[in-house]
Amino acid sequence: DGHRLRLTAKPVFKYTQARLPPGSCFAHPSLPEHARTTDTGTATMAAQPAERSFDVIVVGAGIMGSCAAHAAASRGARVLLLEQFDLLHQRGSSHGESRTIRATYPQPHYPPMVRLSRRLWDDAQRDSGYAVLTPTPHLDLGPRDDPAFLASVANGGATVLAPAAADAPRPAWAEAFRVPDGWAAASSELGGVMKATKAVAMFQALAAKMGAVVRDRTEVVDVARKGV
Ligand SMILES: Cc1cc2nc3c(=O)[nH]c(=O)nc-3n(C[C@H](O)[C@H](O)[C@H](O)COP(=O)(O)OP(=O)(O)OC[C@H]3O[C@@H](n4cnc5c(N)ncnc54)[C@H](O)[C@@H]3O)c2cc1C
Repeated sequence: DGHRLRLTAKPVFKYTQARLPPGSCFAHPSLPEHARTTDTGTATMAAQPAERSFDVIVVGAGIMGSCAAHAAASRGARVLLLEQFDLLHQRGSSHGESRTIRATYPQPHYPPMVRLSRRLWDDAQRDSGYAVLTPTPHLDLGPRDDPAFLASVANGGATVLAPAAADAPRPAWAEAFRVPDGWAAASSELGGVMKATKAVAMFQALAAKMGAVVRDRTEVVDVARKGV
């Protein structure tokens, strides 16, 4: 039909769905109705057209995929987010209690991204009502003549705490850390501790809220370009 012809006129990727057992979608409590299945999960899936079109199909619902799905859905794209295991499973890299965030990198392009991300984390927490990031000062320790360490301190705008000037006040952490001879310590304000699994859940919830379809226990086994 005309709709189908229009779609095939541009590069379209076909999503091949496989290994979809009964009750396949995890009923994440924060997902809206359209993104959930129940005990009759296959019926819910079967009720949908066999082939649907999306602007963006994200493979993998770790932190990267979940963020990507949210970002695309926020910009109005029709998004499908697919995960081969249960949502929030523990078999990838993104689960767990904590991750750290810092701005002190030797590569100069990272700190501006970290500053931008701090604002985006704030936006996501405000929009979701989740609290996932605890901002903290970040302490770097390294050899005083190490170029990578020095570049990290400079790029991250960190304040050198040690070796301290003779008349400088003794920092609060001085009793907790011993800075080895020949080493330096620097503190920056853009550190933080992230609740990892909760952050993934937050972006999945936000993506679904923005209309993304979220499916777990759905492994992508093939990507094929449709005839153009
Ligand atoms: C122990 C540890 C500590 C870390 N500490 C930090 C830290 O402090 N700070 C920091 O910034 N980073 C840290 N990282 C790195 C960070 O956690 C990872 O970079 C990040 O989680 C990667 O996310 P991801 O979404 O790319 O990958 P993953 O979380 O692995 O997600 C990939 C997803 O894709 C799914 N998938 C794969 N193939 C398919 C398919 N064919 N069909 C459907 N689904 C599929 C997988 O099941 C998985 O859920 C740490 C990592 C580890 C392991």
